[in-house]
Amino acid sequence: MLATTRRVNCEKCGNHTVNEVAKTLTPATHGQGGEFLVQLSCEGCGHRQRFWRYTPRLSLK
Ligand SMILES: [Zn+2]
Repeated sequence: MLATTRRVNCEKCGNHTVNEVAKTLTPATHGQGGEFLVQLSCEGCGHRQRFWRYTPRLSLK
């Protein structure tokens, strides 16, 4: 399973201490959109969140 990690701002404490891990459940193709499981974990205040993110299908060019 593909996973990408980046650092984002925390919506609770406002610090730039959140690790965002996005795991690809369904990669986006020309036929269907992508589905990702996103997990947020703040090192500053311990805030955690988990949600699903959807991306539109790839556009044909
Ligand atoms: Zn925080």
